This record gives sequence, C-alpha cells and structure tokens, in this order.
Amino acid sequence: SSETDQLRIFFLPLPTPGHMIPMVEEARVFAKHGVDVTIILTQGNANLVQKNIDHDSNTGHKIKTHVLQFPSAQAGLPDGVENFNSVTNIEMSHTLYRGIHLLQNQIEQLFHDMLPDCIVSDMFFPWTLDVATELGIPRLGFRGCGYFALCSEYCIKRHEPHKSTDSDVVLLPGLPPGTEQKSLGMLMNSFHELEGSYEEYLKTDIGLKAWSLGPVSLWANKDVNQKAERCNIAGREGHEVIDWLNSKEHNSVLYVGFGSLAMLPATQLNEIAHGLEASGHSFIWVVRKKESDEYDQVFPEGFEERMSESKKGFIIKGWAPQMLILEHPAIGGQVTHCGWNSILEGLNSGLPMIAWPLFAEQFYNEKLLTDVLRIAVAVGVKEWREYCEEGTAMVNRDEVEKAVRLLMGGEEEAAEMRKRVRKLQEAAKKAVEVGGSSHANLMDLINKLKSLKVKKI
Ligand code: UDP
Repeated sequence: SSETDQLRIFFLPLPTPGHMIPMVEEARVFAKHGVDVTIILTQGNANLVQKNIDHDSNTGHKIKTHVLQFPSAQAGLPDGVENFNSVTNIEMSHTLYRGIHLLQNQIEQLFHDMLPDCIVSDMFFPWTLDVATELGIPRLGFRGCGYFALCSEYCIKRHEPHKSTDSDVVLLPGLPPGTEQKSLGMLMNSFHELEGSYEEYLKTDIGLKAWSLGPVSLWANKDVNQKAERCNIAGREGHEVIDWLNSKEHNSVLYVGFGSLAMLPATQLNEIAHGLEASGHSFIWVVRKKESDEYDQVFPEGFEERMSESKKGFIIKGWAPQMLILEHPAIGGQVTHCGWNSILEGLNSGLPMIAWPLFAEQFYNEKLLTDVLRIAVAVGVKEWREYCEEGTAMVNRDEVEKAVRLLMGGEEEAAEMRKRVRKLQEAAKKAVEVGGSSHANLMDLINKLKSLKVKKI
C-alpha cells in the first residue's frame, strides 16, 4: 500500500553554515523525490530556512520542520546564538555543538514518538546511532567533506597517527570509523566524476559504505528565485552587489572569501588589501575581521574610498550571498579557504581558484584542487591557523598579487585550469540529472530504505 511505501526520514543537522546549508538542501532532495521529510531545527534556524521549506511544500513536496527551543540559558549562551548565520567563529561553533547536545534526550524522545524509517544525522551526533539501533531503523551519517579528505585522514591515521589533524576525532571519541561503520552508510556531498577513485578507496580499502548525492545545491535550486531564497537563508540581500557585478565584463571579477568561521588577523587582511589593489583586477572581498581589530588596521589608508570610486573592489563586511555571486557571469575566479561547500560552489560555477587553506581538512582539499584536479593555484600557505589569534601574516602582499595576476591575467596555465573546471561543472550538472551518477545513487538509496522498511513490517 502507499502507506507502507511512504518513507519518512528525519534529518538532524548541526547548525553551522558549512553543515546546515548542505544538509537542508539534501533533505529537500529527498522530499523532491517523494520522501516524507522532517528537519529538526532550533527556532532561530527554522526562521532562516522556512522560505525554502514553504516553497517546497507549496510545490507539493512533503517537507516539514520540527522546531526545538535552543537551550541558551542552560548552556550559558546568549539568546539567538544558535542562528547559523550568527555563528562567526570556531569557538562559537564548539559552544553551539555543546548546546545541541543538551537537547539529546528531547531529540531521542522525538524519534521514539515519531518512529521514522531512517535518521540522517550530522556526523557530530554519534548518539543518533544508539537510538536508531534501539528503534531498529537505519542511520545515515552526513559528512560535510569530500572523499579525498576522508581518505587522506584515514591514511595518515593508519600510517602516521601522530600527524593526524582530524580535530573531529579528538572531540568525539569513537568517530569515525566506529559510528559510521555501524551505520547504514554515509551521505557524501560529492559526485563520482569528481572523486571516483577516492570513493572506491573508501569503500574497498577502508570499508565504509557511502552514497554520493552531490553537488546537493544543484538539485534544489534550479531557478533564480530559489537561488535567491537559498542565499537569503543566510540572511542578507544581494541586490547591490549583483548590480555592481552587472556592470562588469564576463570573467573579470575575483571573489575572495574564507567561509563562515575563519577570521584572519588584521595584519593578514591588510596584506590581502595591498595585494588585491596592486594586482589591478576587480574583486569582491568578504571581510571578516576579529572584533578586537579595527577597520583602519585592516584597510590601507583611503583603500575603501579608492575601491569604491574606481569600482575596482566591492567590499562585503559580514555575510555574502556567496552562491548568487559565484554564479554571476562576471565572476572569473575564486580565492577560497578550501571549505568543501565553497569548493563545490566554485566548481558548479566553473571557476578556477586560488587555494588558501586555513585549518582542518582544508589542507587536503587544497591538494585535491591543485595536484589532483588541477583547477587551482596554491597561494602557498604552509601553516594551520585555526584561531588566528595573533598578528603575523601567513601570506604577504606580493604573493597575493602574484596569485591573482596568474589566475585573472589570461595566462595559459589559468586558461587550462578554467577548461578543466568547466568540464567538472558540466559533469556536476549531469550527475544530478536523470541517468546521472548522483541521481542513480539517490534512487538506489531510496529503494534500499524502502526494502528495509518492508522487512521491518
Ligand atoms: N557562505 C555564504 N556567505 C558567506 C560565507 C559563507 O553564503 O559570507 C556559505 C557558503 O556559500 C557555503 C558555506 O557558507 O555554502 C560555508 O561552507 P564551507 O564548507 O565553504 O566553509 P566553512 O564555513 O564550513 O569553513
């Protein structure tokens, strides 16, 4: 009967942008393909994604949110701290993660009451495996990174454990492979044509099960309004910057962004400003400074005025509608901290990149971009700078200028990178269409979950 056929899946995201944005998009993909989806959110975040959810349910998809009160007082945190666009540094994201853990009992109770057919959980919540096991239902773990990074981490742990850099594992004993091995598998925001050989390695050598469903942002945001809404979930309007981009030639503007958590010290930001200006190329720069730094330490004298008068540089202080910007035809390249979502967004827009990793698996991602896919030039960072507490610059103005000139100046090397990334862009689009690799994986997974459900009944 249709009742037994109807799959009901609950999604539990971690509300930091890099995890929450792709996971909500993934939930929407399942809803679009007939699954009855519920996303567990806290109040602040529910407000941010509601527009997209409403849009989807208006178009007939079964998608709901279950809203919990974030335990601000109990966690000793200010109200609203859990809104994912106000999580502005790594320390905050850790605090937030602890806050969500205070909701564990409540969430477990919810699963017991609602009896879903499957739990999709951010990898940061390993306890969802226990409740899934109690209920006799499958759990899928959501990973926010790609296969190359996962495989690199496993290999280092296996062969040179003292060099392991996976802070997740330090934070969460038993994760992975413990939790992920006992789960039904992992949902990966990647696609076969991008990292197929590492996907194979993970499955055969490491022995983990995984389904590639990426790039997730390509499924759910096909029309412009959807894209705009998707960016608005991040809470800002992008009209001004889009107007500015409309006045620029195709492929002429560089986007400079370091994701949602990283904050560079003023000395480093100042070197970037000098390097960008000296390159002579147009740019959009998302500047996120530490509260203790002043903008007059960040920008060289008269910088903002010069950039605005010459229309050379558009500076965004705070949150940018990144996906909308990257898709604009005037954008010709991206400076990225090698966060996995930013990489995929750049790739979906066919942009060659300048790789500037800062922490965590970003250094592996840099290698994937520069040495394997050959779609990026390394700016030359050698050192992990998680918190960026103190002063010195990692990359000086000359190095910034050189990388920007190479990427944006029409050199042969950059042209080759652009060709390669355009091929990946095409492959990414095909992957999520009927007959594509990620599409086939989704169908396979849905069938698998349906058969598990039937067995249970
Ligand atoms: N993002 C954005 N505007 C910003 C900064 C980030 O829209 O000003 C989005 C970006 O498009 C991406 C996510 O936030 O979807 C950041 O994820 P990523 O994995 O790149 O890096 P993280 O923030 O986790 O370091």
